Amino acid sequence: MSRIIGIDLGTTNSCVAVLDDKQHPETLSTADGERTVPSWVSWTASGQIAVGTRARRQAVTNPSATVYGVKRLIGRKVNAEDVSWFARLAPFRIVAAPNGDAWVRVHGQPISPQEVAAQILRRIKQVAEEALGEPVTRAVVTVPAYFDDAQRQATRDAGQIAGLDVIRILNEPTAAALAYGAHRVGEGRRLIAVFDLGGGTFDISIMSVENGIFEVLATGGDSALGGEDWDRRMLERIVDEVFDQYRVDLTGIPMAMSRLREACETAKKALSVETETMLQLPFLANDQHGAPINYERVITREQIEGLTKDLLDRLEAPCARALSDAGLKATDLEEVLLVGGMTRWPAVEQMVEKLFQKKPSKGANPDEVVALGAAQYAGILAGDSNDAALLDVTPHDIGIKVGDSQFAVVLPRNSMLPVRARRLFATTHENQKFVSIELYQGDSQDVLKNRKLGQVVLDDLTPGPPGSTRVELVITVDVESILSVTAREPKSGKEASVTIRPSGGLSQREIVEIINRRRAETSQVAPLPEMRSGGVRVTTREHSVHSLKPPTGDPEKK
Ligand code: AMP
Repeated sequence: MSRIIGIDLGTTNSCVAVLDDKQHPETLSTADGERTVPSWVSWTASGQIAVGTRARRQAVTNPSATVYGVKRLIGRKVNAEDVSWFARLAPFRIVAAPNGDAWVRVHGQPISPQEVAAQILRRIKQVAEEALGEPVTRAVVTVPAYFDDAQRQATRDAGQIAGLDVIRILNEPTAAALAYGAHRVGEGRRLIAVFDLGGGTFDISIMSVENGIFEVLATGGDSALGGEDWDRRMLERIVDEVFDQYRVDLTGIPMAMSRLREACETAKKALSVETETMLQLPFLANDQHGAPINYERVITREQIEGLTKDLLDRLEAPCARALSDAGLKATDLEEVLLVGGMTRWPAVEQMVEKLFQKKPSKGANPDEVVALGAAQYAGILAGDSNDAALLDVTPHDIGIKVGDSQFAVVLPRNSMLPVRARRLFATTHENQKFVSIELYQGDSQDVLKNRKLGQVVLDDLTPGPPGSTRVELVITVDVESILSVTAREPKSGKEASVTIRPSGGLSQREIVEIINRRRAETSQVAPLPEMRSGGVRVTTREHSVHSLKPPTGDPEKK
């Protein structure tokens, strides 16, 4: 059996790790020695695809066909609030698929985020195979704790398209906590925070760890805040300075902007250890008389801190909110773990210390810890390590719509899989003939803000006055996150059931078509046989009656 790799499929960068022969997780590097791969994919007009650093480099000269941040789109609807925000900002087009999912359009071709993510995963697979010298087919892939089942399934589907069997999806804060060994310290229940500031996003998770069980108590963050904002501030300042000095607008010179962007990020990294550094950009552009501008400037950490103070301040509120959602105070936490490359910036670390009133724990490479934790988990699954007995949990509440838009939770989030929950409801109408039960997943009390999973209809109910007929709803979720729902009228014994498999937006048939298309493009091998369609098997009858209310009974778990 080949080794199982651990993949951190990030918004900005991705990373792969594996357990070495001594069962220690190690990051695998590209042939060029890069320990992370930028999550960027670029298509040339002739159809050539570049992934990683090569794609990122050509972003300025090929902006409409260079896709980044695809993790913001995967398994999402195009009209979701933060997808619209990203669509306004991104230089490539984000369009609606027929089912309303957010896709990208490159050279006129609609492409699903799953296919874009598959390009990144394929590159990661290649990096791992080159480093290990053996084929790799299985992976543990991490996702943010707040990803719902559709986003998780879409990530699995991306793996399948890339030729990887994603044997488990793991929450990023859990992976980080595993890598930090948070489960090996002390006795009893420990409360920790995972503070993750990457290139494009900020995530804060409050977790409990007990007997190898990691529970995410609350998550928060800012999906529009990351290290790139620090780089952009520096870049904007230099663009202004060059304009003041030479009357040249660099924003109209793509090559200069591309070099400047890279130089700013390099300077920022240098300034996280030094207090000043030299920014040197020979032949950046030509001045108004055609003479070359050889840009040179000393830049200090203090100057960057001054330019980015407001960015630092934005870290505060999400942390306070996550703590309050978990019903905790900063002093209740035993440890705060730093994750993400931008936590190397000293002011960020100081801010964390101030917010949580304790020195945070930091590893040598905060941008690799999620992949290292995924590799550790892969080792546990492969039986190579019996480090911790991690259990899967439901990421969000599962329940039904009652009234116009209320959400009645049947199965609370963080329920350990497999799980079964039961709840009684009652009819609301005189002689009500049927109930149409709509299932949703999410954490909002307003059901319409949550994601609809499917529907089950129970008809031929025993007639009677409102509230007289009871309907028992039983929801079961197995270890593969497959949901079975049964609605039953206890009085008559009538029941109706539905099975809902997580769907990431693409059917199994579409996935196989994509794989076959790709195979036909790269080699002339036989296509895969058509597979049974996954997706949702539900009763599709539509009823307009909102016909249930929760009369009695709390969720009851067996
Ligand atoms: P990640 O998404 O975890 O890979 O983090 C990427 C972000 O971390 C980018 O904005 C990088 O510029 C930033 N980063 C990486 N290394 C450093 C460093 N030494 N100092 C400051 N920021 C860094």
